[in-house]
Amino acid sequence: MTKHKNAQTDLIHAPRTAPQYIETIQPPLYRASTIIFKSTSHLFDRHWTDRYDYSYGTHGTPTTFTLGDNIAQIEGGIFSLLAPSGLSAINLVNSTLLSSGDEVWVADNIYGPNLEHLNNLQDRYGISVKIYNPIDADSFQPTEKSKLIWLEAAGSVTLEFPDLKNLVKKAQQANVITALDNTWGAGLAFNAFDFSDEHLSVDLTVHALTKYPSGGGDILMGSVVTRDQQLHHKLFKMHATQGICVSGDDSAQIQRSLAHMSLRYDHQSLNAIKVLDWLKQQPQFSQILHPSLNNAAGHQFWAEVCTTGKSAGLVSVIFKPDYDLTAVRKFCDSLQLFKLGFSWGGPVSLAMLYDLKQMRSLSNTHLQQGLLVRFCIGLEHPEDLIQDIQNALKQLE
Ligand SMILES: *Cc1c(COP(=O)(O)O)cnc(C)c1O
Repeated sequence: MTKHKNAQTDLIHAPRTAPQYIETIQPPLYRASTIIFKSTSHLFDRHWTDRYDYSYGTHGTPTTFTLGDNIAQIEGGIFSLLAPSGLSAINLVNSTLLSSGDEVWVADNIYGPNLEHLNNLQDRYGISVKIYNPIDADSFQPTEKSKLIWLEAAGSVTLEFPDLKNLVKKAQQANVITALDNTWGAGLAFNAFDFSDEHLSVDLTVHALTKYPSGGGDILMGSVVTRDQQLHHKLFKMHATQGICVSGDDSAQIQRSLAHMSLRYDHQSLNAIKVLDWLKQQPQFSQILHPSLNNAAGHQFWAEVCTTGKSAGLVSVIFKPDYDLTAVRKFCDSLQLFKLGFSWGGPVSLAMLYDLKQMRSLSNTHLQQGLLVRFCIGLEHPEDLIQDIQNALKQLE
């Protein structure tokens, strides 16, 4: 390195490449807005569809592409894109695939903010939002205007597992793109790109990496994975024009957590079952919601698709109608280990209170009336979690 007249210049142009190749457990972390071109031919010969043609931070770095590749692999896909949150990944799909006059189908138990986003598109761009019952494939009635169907397995909050097989088959026959919000299964409970004995596949998955891949309750990120290169390029182009990108630091943190994601998923899944077994025996609840339960709406579809027997560490309870909002709020406020908060997949168990009356459009005969509390099982010992719920229930006596 030649010395410059000014120390300031030397500081900025100090060597920044390691003198030799080294191998580490975690891949190197790149932070970049500017990426330096070797020459003008590298500048002019690059093409946006070539992801390894590093050109600018928004396009991606080896750090973000490595994470994307890993997520695609876990989920059974090939191509991936990263977005700054799960909701941002959802928005990428909606804004890429929907145009004025199109129809989009969403399950009644869809992730709430996705529906809000679509309702906003409906009002502003004349996109028609249709609601179907995820456990009744007949309620999905595609027309030639139908462009996209959102699937969620299991669905948000009430955790019904959809009739994935028949919904996907029906969508394929009608040329409707199938998008699965894969956050619950995380690529571990089932393979969205090869499920059922008929080897069915969705067209694309969205995954809130904020949940299990991060595992820390501290980082937001989302992904869109597909096996279809043409579809990927469409999404990639919108990704580029919207300036959707993620930080290298956040990507490296999630990358680091992937090594134990499957262990955490299984552990939280098993502990949720232990908590569930206890919850079933408590007189305060009229209904326990979890797809592994024989009497759960969509249980047979879960058994058909999740042949691993796995499920995420989420379980919801519906309080008997004699417990009013004041009582259920008191229950939630009395919990000590369970913290009141959105999201899941982190080390700390969470509880959230929902009023189903304000959340569903269709009449769901399988759901009891009453206030719902969703528990997200963290990494505490299940006996302590049960004790915590028991103590909070005692406050209601
Ligand atoms: C959390 C979540 C999202 C959104 O992810 P964020 O990163 O929080 O925006 C989307 N879908 C499902 C099913 C989720 O649970």
